[in-house]
Amino acid sequence: MPPPAPRTVQQKVLRKAQITLLDWYSQHARDLPWRRTKDPYAILVSEVMLQQTQVDRVIPKYDEFLRLFPTFQALAAAPTADVIRAWSPLGYNRRAVRLQAIAAQIAECHGGELPEDMKTLLSLPGVGEYTASALACFIHGQNVPVIDTNVRRVLSRVFRGTASVAPMEVRTIAQWALPLGRGPQWSQALMDIGATLCTSQRPVCPQCPLELYCQAAATFRKHPAVAERRAAYGKRQQPFAGSSRFYRGRIVDCLRRLPAGDSIAVTDLGTTVRDDYEETHSEWLIALVRGLETDGLARVQETSATNASTAVLRISLP
Ligand code: SF4
Repeated sequence: MPPPAPRTVQQKVLRKAQITLLDWYSQHARDLPWRRTKDPYAILVSEVMLQQTQVDRVIPKYDEFLRLFPTFQALAAAPTADVIRAWSPLGYNRRAVRLQAIAAQIAECHGGELPEDMKTLLSLPGVGEYTASALACFIHGQNVPVIDTNVRRVLSRVFRGTASVAPMEVRTIAQWALPLGRGPQWSQALMDIGATLCTSQRPVCPQCPLELYCQAAATFRKHPAVAERRAAYGKRQQPFAGSSRFYRGRIVDCLRRLPAGDSIAVTDLGTTVRDDYEETHSEWLIALVRGLETDGLARVQETSATNASTAVLRISLP
């Protein structure tokens, strides 16, 4: 049974909006390397890289990564330390370990073929609703909604104006608005609109193909600052510098710089990643290192130092 149509939008208007957007996409689609391939492995790599990283930073790394690890099997068989090194400078390094775990499961349990059904896709390590939908849609051509931040913002504005929209409602709208048989192009078009015209702070409504059908356009034309205020409100985040994620990234960068197979003592690591490091920070540092070990990003070994009564922790890439 199809989801209920949003009250304020007529089916006829939706149909026109679909035709307009798909037509716009056929002429203005961004030329992205992962849109030029049908290789499931390459598309999976792009999807994992694009989580939390901007397109222009992903493009050069995507090509290099595929050269180093061209198939599921090659990635699965590679030393994890090499995969983590190759991931630099994308950040969120856990994604590299997760991608390798996905490749290993596909190589070992699925004969090197990416599964097609959502349930099996969701059983891959660390694959959630978004990634499973993106793989089903962009690789297997299934007509399922793919809802990332950009798609969520565009759909909310077009069909609900400037009001906040709950995630479940966006999902209902996304399912309802999906044009039959054109899911992949529709989702990519929404992503392109969200990335280039309907940005969180400065929507460029006069240039947008959806302006005629969009419930937010009139407000943004009259009060452009509304988008800026809402975006600023939504961005009340902790500062990155000084956060745990910041120091985890620094530790992994330090480990990447070690010669292959080398390790570093935890005390030396402390002074490398933090200028003001002192003895009192050791507990904090060990907790970070243990967290990286749990996430598969580091190996921790206890060794007995010469002339020392206590064990020394030494850290390396896995
Ligand atoms: S008309 Fe404006 S608010 Fe609506 S989708 Fe386009 S850019 Fe976004």
